[in-house]
Amino acid sequence: MTLTPRDSGWIEVICGSMFSGKTEELIRRLRRAQFAKVSTAIFKPHMDNRYSENQIVSHNNMKMDSHLVNNAQEIMELAQDSEVIGVDEAQFFDDYLVNVCKSLASEKKRVIIAGLDTDFRGNPFGPMPLLMCEADFLDKLRAICMICGNPASCTQRKTKQTRQIVVGETDIYEARCRNCFQPPKE
Ligand code: ZN
Repeated sequence: MTLTPRDSGWIEVICGSMFSGKTEELIRRLRRAQFAKVSTAIFKPHMDNRYSENQIVSHNNMKMDSHLVNNAQEIMELAQDSEVIGVDEAQFFDDYLVNVCKSLASEKKRVIIAGLDTDFRGNPFGPMPLLMCEADFLDKLRAICMICGNPASCTQRKTKQTRQIVVGETDIYEARCRNCFQPPKE
């Protein structure tokens, strides 16, 4: 981001497949805000407890304290005293998160959202497509395809589970490029 808005809030969205470095990028941006003595608050949905209850943790083990919330409304309530708001695993919230982000931005806060843009079928995931439309700044990160080494935008589920949400890591998922991605046959 070369030019940041003045006297205004805004929404940044960091999306991409699993293992594309979204949480790492979210932590990097929040840490820079903290170095600048700007107050921050970080949120993640209650279901994502794969590493740590009260922290967001990237795949390269960067960590930052976060609030666990049950829904987007809780973010609205808990974010009031902060100038920069981070949300990780945003795909797990419902569409009300879009309203919350817009409200916070209208209160001149900087809102940084990280989430999976597509699910294991390759379909848009939760509120992410709406958030990507609403974003003032949008970054789509890519992982590396585990089959061929190309840039990867897809998340391949390696198990036969058919629920949209199955929390897992490299045991269940791997990054794949468009050519190597094999969506499940229904
Ligand atoms: Zn590939």
